[in-house]
Amino acid sequence: MPISRQWNIEPHCCAWCGGRVLSDVADVGHVRCADCGAEDGNGVKSICWCGAGSQLGDAPLTIHCGPNPDKSGSNMAEIVALQGPPPDPTSTRRKSAGRR
Ligand SMILES: [Zn+2]
Ligand SMILES: [Zn+2]
Repeated sequence: MPISRQWNIEPHCCAWCGGRVLSDVADVGHVRCADCGAEDGNGVKSICWCGAGSQLGDAPLTIHCGPNPDKSGSNMAEIVALQGPPPDPTSTRRKSAGRR
């Protein structure tokens, strides 16, 4: 058993405490909150805000993780929960596609 595990820092924040979500480099799908320690084996969205909207069932509210639009004062977190639909999943290749 490895003594120290390697984690990727994901651009997602914990749905319970708002902490940064980490993903296990060696164990794909295993994610953990850097702050409260919430863990799940079903990927980032199982503990981040991106999955919260769908868990509300018929509620129209959708939440996703994104860069903090007002990174100052009381909330210095880099990634925060934002209201609204998540970014278009087809835009993940935006490095080459660019913006219109
Ligand atoms: Zn947490
Ligand atoms: Zn997320």
